[in-house]
Amino acid sequence: MLNLTNTLTRKKELFTPRDPSRVTMYVCGITPQEAPHLGHGRGYVVTDILFRLLRHTYGENSVVYVRNYTDVDDKIIEKAVQIGTTPEAVANDNIAIFQQCMNDLNILTPTHEPRITTSMPEIIAFVQTLLDKKIAYTTPEGDVYYDLQKLPACGCGYHYGQLSSKKPEDLIMGSRVEPNLSKRNAGDFALWKAAKPDEISWATPWGRGRPGWHIECSAMSLATIGPQMDIHGGGEDLQFPHHENELAQNIGAFSELYTDAENGFAKLWFHWAFITVNGTKMSKSLGNFTYLDHAIAAHGAAAIRYWLLQTHYRKPVDYSEDALKAAAKPAKRLMAALKEPAAGAPAPAFQEKFLSMLNDDLNTAKALAALNTALSANELANVQWGAKLLGFKA
Ligand SMILES: [Zn+2]
Repeated sequence: MLNLTNTLTRKKELFTPRDPSRVTMYVCGITPQEAPHLGHGRGYVVTDILFRLLRHTYGENSVVYVRNYTDVDDKIIEKAVQIGTTPEAVANDNIAIFQQCMNDLNILTPTHEPRITTSMPEIIAFVQTLLDKKIAYTTPEGDVYYDLQKLPACGCGYHYGQLSSKKPEDLIMGSRVEPNLSKRNAGDFALWKAAKPDEISWATPWGRGRPGWHIECSAMSLATIGPQMDIHGGGEDLQFPHHENELAQNIGAFSELYTDAENGFAKLWFHWAFITVNGTKMSKSLGNFTYLDHAIAAHGAAAIRYWLLQTHYRKPVDYSEDALKAAAKPAKRLMAALKEPAAGAPAPAFQEKFLSMLNDDLNTAKALAALNTALSANELANVQWGAKLLGFKA
C-alpha cells in the first residue's frame, strides 16, 4: 500500500487510484531552451521510481504517465533570435539531448509526451471554455486573462493559494510577474498572449497569439488523461504559480465534476525538492548548474542515479563532484552484481521489506541501504530484483 505526501493536504496519505486498471499521472516536463541540468535528472529519476512502483503494483499496462514539453515560450524565442535559428530548432535540439539523457539514465519513457506546438487545438478550446463561462476575459491588447474573482466555488473545497500555502498578499506579490494595466485583478494570470511582431503565433477566434504557460498542462492532461487524474507532479518551484493556476483553470472548466475532496482535479499532488549547490538552488537563471549530459559522461549514469536515490525526494540534494565520485564506487559494485548470473528466486521476505520502504513515501535511501546489505550477503537474486525496481540496468 503506497503512502505518499500530498502537497494539497500537507499529509502523507494512503494512495488509492480512481481506477486501478488505469492509474494516471501527469508530471510537468521541461522547457527546452537549454540542455537539461542535473536538477532535471533528479526530478525525472524520482518520477521514474514512482512510475516503476505503480507499474509493479497495478500492472505494466495499467499506468498512464504523461510528461509534456513546453516547446514554445519567451526564453526559447529569445534563444532562437540570439543564435539565429527558429524556436522549433532550439526546442528540437534540446529535446533530443534530454531524451538521450533519459535513455542513458534508464528512465522509462512516459506513455504520452505531448508538446505545445502539437496540442494547439486543445489549448485554444480550453481557453474558449473559460471565455464562454465568463471566467476569462480578453483585453484591448488581445491578451486573455483568468479572472480570479470568478473562480467558481467547488465541492472539492479548493481556495486559490491552497496548493502552495500562500496568503492572499503573497499571491498578489506573484502578480508582479505579469504586470498589465488591463487586468481586472492584480493576481489575474495570462491564458493567452497577443502576438508580437515577428513572433511565432497561432490564430484563434479572439486574435493571433500564443498560450500562457499554465494553460498547456490543463489542456494536455485533459487530452491524454481526462479532467480528473490520480497524481499530478512537478518540481517544488512549480507549486506557485504554475500548479496553483492550473488547478484554478481546471476548476473553472470542470467545477461541477469536482464534487468533493476525493474527486477533484488530481487526487494527490507530488513535488520533489531541488538540487542545491552550497545550499542554493541549482538553476539556469543563477548559472550554477551542471549539464546532465556532461555529468553522465563524467561519472556514468548509474553513479548519478545512485547519488540521487540516496536522498529522500522531498529533501534537497547538495551537489559536489566529491559526492558524485563517492557514489560511483558502490554504483559500480552494484552494476557488477547485476551482470552476474543469480541462482534462485528473490526471497518473499526481502521483496516485502523492500516494497514497504518504497511504499513509505518513496524511501529510496532505505531501499538502497537494503540493497547494499543484500549485496554484502551475496544475495544476488534479491539484489537484482530490488535494483530493477530502482531502475538500475546492467
Ligand atoms: Zn505544467
